Amino acid sequence: MQIKIDSDSGFCFGVTGAIKKAEEELKKGELYCLGDIVHNGLEVERLSRLGLQTINYEEFAQLHNVRVLLRAHGEPPATYLTAKQNDIDIIDASCPVVKRLQERIRKAYLANTNAQIVLFGKPGHAEVIGLQGQTDNTAIVIEKIEEREKIDFEKDIYLFSQTTKSVEQFMSLVHLISEQPNVKSGKIHFLWHDTICRNVAGRVNKLKQFAKENDVIVFVGGNKSSNAKVLFDNCLQVNPRSYFVADYDVLTAEWLQENNISLTDTIGICGATSTPHWLMEKCKERLENIKETK
Ligand code: SF4
Repeated sequence: MQIKIDSDSGFCFGVTGAIKKAEEELKKGELYCLGDIVHNGLEVERLSRLGLQTINYEEFAQLHNVRVLLRAHGEPPATYLTAKQNDIDIIDASCPVVKRLQERIRKAYLANTNAQIVLFGKPGHAEVIGLQGQTDNTAIVIEKIEEREKIDFEKDIYLFSQTTKSVEQFMSLVHLISEQPNVKSGKIHFLWHDTICRNVAGRVNKLKQFAKENDVIVFVGGNKSSNAKVLFDNCLQVNPRSYFVADYDVLTAEWLQENNISLTDTIGICGATSTPHWLMEKCKERLENIKETK
């Protein structure tokens, strides 16, 4: 059983930046974080041991004169307004890529208030909430192309994407909208912007290659991470022996047996942009220990 970790997996620069900022700011004193800093429960726990206090929106609204870190996903304008009203010192760790996307959406919204802003993304996802906020929450959110009936094909359409969506699915949506009679005839304007972060999209091909090169894939990701789901699906497409694990403790001799994984298999460990490297290392260590006791 050969075990290796994918060198291209792990935190993207947006998440790395937010965590680094949290670690630095924690040295200066009490620090809150609005929502989980990353969609990985074990990393949240690690930072909580360092003192980072995760709060929800209700708790945030009750706080005054404290320091609150905003995570890489970004926040809607309402969050900054609350902070101002409550004298909260914001430590803004929003990813610069998300910030730029927020600005583009705001600009498009203000430029043509009759157009529909359509966001290809997951409803309720923190980044999507931040993006919707740029349109005073009027943007239409579409998670799957089957939801196209949410769009009014009598009005202009400006389409953007959440940064972690699949490029393939986004392009299918673009194609579908382009084929609508009113779009084809030019009766309505359709402007689309591929705003998928290449830090994620660029990983897909490399990850697929990695998944093909190994007999078995152990994909390590948080259950709440949409990026993890997208990347895991890509592994599954090319390697049906791909398994999603949230923690290393599920990796036992019984688990290997249940999944018909033998000592002759090569195992590739990989993860999402929210998967800490130390967690993939722990998975590797765990599998190596099982191997040694066999
Ligand atoms: S995936 Fe891209 S946009 Fe999202 S936090 Fe990471 S670097 Fe920023």
